[in-house]
Amino acid sequence: MEPPHESAAGGRKRRRRGGDRNRWKPSSSSQQEPPPAAAPAPLSSPPAKRRRKDGTGQAAAAPKRGNTSSLLEKMRARLSGGHFRMLNEKLYTCSGQDAFDYFKNDPTLFDVYHTGYREQMSHWPEQPVNVIINWLKRHNASWTVADFGCEYHLHVAGNAAVAKNVENKVFSIDLVSDDPSVIACDMAHTPLESSSVDVAIFCLSLMGTNYPNYLEEANRVLNPSGWLVIAEVRSRLDPNNGGADPEKFSKAIIQLGFSLVSKDEKNKMFILFYFKKKEKSKVAKSIDWPQLKPCLYKRR
Ligand code: SAH
Repeated sequence: MEPPHESAAGGRKRRRRGGDRNRWKPSSSSQQEPPPAAAPAPLSSPPAKRRRKDGTGQAAAAPKRGNTSSLLEKMRARLSGGHFRMLNEKLYTCSGQDAFDYFKNDPTLFDVYHTGYREQMSHWPEQPVNVIINWLKRHNASWTVADFGCEYHLHVAGNAAVAKNVENKVFSIDLVSDDPSVIACDMAHTPLESSSVDVAIFCLSLMGTNYPNYLEEANRVLNPSGWLVIAEVRSRLDPNNGGADPEKFSKAIIQLGFSLVSKDEKNKMFILFYFKKKEKSKVAKSIDWPQLKPCLYKRR
């Protein structure tokens, strides 16, 4: 199935009135990520419709009012869409610690981010997290799992989706949480014990500029022979579009002490890597980590 708007991704189009106004497209290269249908609208409960009566008891003719309220809705959607883009860029261009501090100061921004993120994802033909959930279901329910960047959000259906959809014991980790079952921390430094999990998942969550620290942390908490499952946005690993070389990315993780078991490239929007920690793993002295470019979205 083609993701929506794929065909429009190459050239800049004249804006159409109405629906497309609040759509976004990624600025990074690519035709890879389709834009969301409409900007997220945490503020968007439509204003209560008021009907003014005239002397006859009839509702006053209101075409202007209707226009005003839909204009207001569009403006709200635009504002929150812009806010989402700003937060998304922030997450891709700062360290995990800075992101943690940022949202700690104002957790409501986390809601804005996740509402926008969900909107983006609703247009992907396949959700990488579902591929990972199905992979887990086909394996061992007794494995302990750590979901690094689980997407915790109180108001969004499907948050911390891995924990909710598998029988395994899952440590769900994200920057903000008011739920005791989700650990709030910068995932470069989790409270998990060393060698305590069998599967570490990073599903679209290698966002911070210090992403290698997240993988080092996963290496610390993984048991020997544990799995490291990574899903990343395809354009971030597309050298033809300024992305990192996926071979270089895999090589760095191999130098961390893993073997690459398989790579799933059949999805249009993301690549999946399945690594296994070596029984007697050893971290190379210096690892040449490629830079992962941010996945940014701009208005169409
Ligand atoms: N895994 C989910 C969400 C991906 S969005 C899914 O596949 O749908 C990326 C998630 O990683 C967000 O929830 C974001 O808050 C989280 N995240 C990014 N950097 C983080 C960090 N340093 N520590 C903890 N969580 C982080």
